Amino acid sequence: MASEEQQPVKTICPYCGVGCGIQVNPGEEPGDMRFMPWGEAPVNEGKICIKGGAATQVVNHEDRLTDPLIKEDGEFREATWEEAYELIVSEMERIREEYGPDAMGFYGSSKTMNEENYLLQKLARRYGTNNVDNCTRMCHASTVWALRTSLGAGAMTNSMADLREEADVFWIHGANPGEQHPIANSVYFRQAVLEGATVIQVDPHANKTTRSFKIDETDRHMHLQVEPGTDIPLLNVVIKTILEKHEENPEEGWIDEAFIEERTEGFDHLKETLDGFDKEAAAEECGVSLEDIELAAEKYASADSAAIFTGMGMSQHACGVDNVQNEINLALITGNLGRPGTGVNPLRGQNNVQGTCDVGAMPNVLPGYQLVDDDEARKSVEEVWGFDVPAEPGLTNVEISHEFGESVKGLYVMGENPVMSEPDSNDVAERIQELEFIVAQDIFMTETAKYADVILPATTWAERGGTVTNTDRRVQRMRPVAKVHENTKHDLEIVSEIGTRLFGEDGGFDFEDPEEVFEELRLVCPSYHGMTYEALGEEGIQWPCYEEGDEGDQYLYEEHFDTESGLGHIEGVSHTPPAETPDEEYPLILTTARLEEHYNTGTMSRRSPTLNRQHPENFVDIHPNDAERYGIEDGEQVTIRSRRGEITVEAQVTEDIKEGSIWTTPHFAAASANRLTNDVLDERAKIPEYKAAAAEIEVGIEP
Ligand code: SF4
Repeated sequence: MASEEQQPVKTICPYCGVGCGIQVNPGEEPGDMRFMPWGEAPVNEGKICIKGGAATQVVNHEDRLTDPLIKEDGEFREATWEEAYELIVSEMERIREEYGPDAMGFYGSSKTMNEENYLLQKLARRYGTNNVDNCTRMCHASTVWALRTSLGAGAMTNSMADLREEADVFWIHGANPGEQHPIANSVYFRQAVLEGATVIQVDPHANKTTRSFKIDETDRHMHLQVEPGTDIPLLNVVIKTILEKHEENPEEGWIDEAFIEERTEGFDHLKETLDGFDKEAAAEECGVSLEDIELAAEKYASADSAAIFTGMGMSQHACGVDNVQNEINLALITGNLGRPGTGVNPLRGQNNVQGTCDVGAMPNVLPGYQLVDDDEARKSVEEVWGFDVPAEPGLTNVEISHEFGESVKGLYVMGENPVMSEPDSNDVAERIQELEFIVAQDIFMTETAKYADVILPATTWAERGGTVTNTDRRVQRMRPVAKVHENTKHDLEIVSEIGTRLFGEDGGFDFEDPEEVFEELRLVCPSYHGMTYEALGEEGIQWPCYEEGDEGDQYLYEEHFDTESGLGHIEGVSHTPPAETPDEEYPLILTTARLEEHYNTGTMSRRSPTLNRQHPENFVDIHPNDAERYGIEDGEQVTIRSRRGEITVEAQVTEDIKEGSIWTTPHFAAASANRLTNDVLDERAKIPEYKAAAAEIEVGIEP
């Protein structure tokens, strides 16, 4: 039993966006921390998945960075913090003097807290650039764009809790909560299904979500196994079916005429887009029978309350914004918004990817999604900060990386790993060497940190305090247990020190603790304005929370949308095929996704013995017909090639994937999917097309 000084500490799981509460037992020594369940945790009610249970394993890992490192003659040497700070400040000043402030890029991190990301984006803007971004660019930038412009806020419209209580249909499109959001799936969605809700899953790959709802075994649920990159035609078949049925039988309520009339704009545009649309040809292109799509349309449209869940299978396309817009179209024409149990709900990946965007670590928005090019909004933030912010949006993280060695000469990376997380990663590794100066602030020597000039050893999730915001907008406090390595520093302390050295004691970076930073954040972020650390307590608060005493909102847009007109924006969209489609040289479509036991570039999960044991290496799923054609045995090593690189992995022969497509993961450095993926971007949201690339397989590789 813990002594009085060693009481368990209540904090939040550092992995996914569900935001489960956990406890950490401090143990006798700082490195002895152990996981404990938190029975009354607001989100997960004491349940936990394999990642959350293993989270303490990385805190005292032998690979931890424990001292600052400076690269000299190509080798790292230990340095003092003073040396590291002096070098960083002098190089950042030199770069600004020689090339101007836009020659620096700043990467925030969805694994770090709101206060830390807030301060990093403020540092970038005080330096004079909006070139600051975070990994939302790689996962849900298109979702955020579409939701923000068509409804008002780039976030889940509803909550796990109200969906469990009220949703009759769960339309899960390009998302895999059974694997990526296990506790949301088991505590909330499965409960709703046990009580009668129907699941319609749209995904090119059968996965744990398919199996967790036993979709094959009941007529109630459906899995529409689409060809990768055909989500727009599939949804257009759904929408066209609903419009046709409504015309045939207006009294059956296939669309919600009153809702369309009173609360939306653009319906005529949608109808015009679908004039002459050929449902049969579209269904064939999707690889799903027309009857099945029509049946799914009926299930969605006839439900009292139907909720859409949207994942990276939708967002990570060059047409990602249009993909999500079409989900919004479907929800708006059927009146499935602004009520419990409805909505368009992105399932966010990392434990603070929502918050990192909320606090403004993006090149086009300030805290609270206030546009940098909106003069009034920018001025209101400048008044609090006491300095001018550049009025032009900056570069996104992939754009920054495309400019390495060109307009961008220096890079500040806080807790990100772009050399592995960005598409076409072999090329990123080449380009990053063109930079003149790189700072990497992290807990481990990542694939990116190896290229740095200075490495700053940060502390882990269990060693520091602050707030994180989960997938349903709940801002929750993380609490420090104990520091493990004396010479490491918290991210906030590091950014605060660099800001103070660059801009002086009155430069706006001199903060005592995370709470003091949060107090400033409240002043510039309207949806967080009513929150205080005290009010957050153990339950947290779901934004928007405009005034102290507000309890936050479970669902958004009850009376109006937060658009300029107050109306929800409908806009018809047409099919854009993936930038690469199969051809003679690369006849297969490669698509990618994550595993339950691993976490993005694996910096933490690959160092967790429990997690790594489950999946120590990458693999590729291949349909039995393709395996037969290529002469591939289950378990055989194969090489997958794309126009950008190759990886050698084990083949898993399975009907989980359709004939003509293959599926692999990005978690394993030497054989990461991102050595193959295409870095073509969505024009507006600048998210890369991770989900579709042309590929070929070579067999006969020795293990
Ligand atoms: Fe952590 Fe997500 Fe698992 Fe919850 S579901 S324990 S937040 S990884």
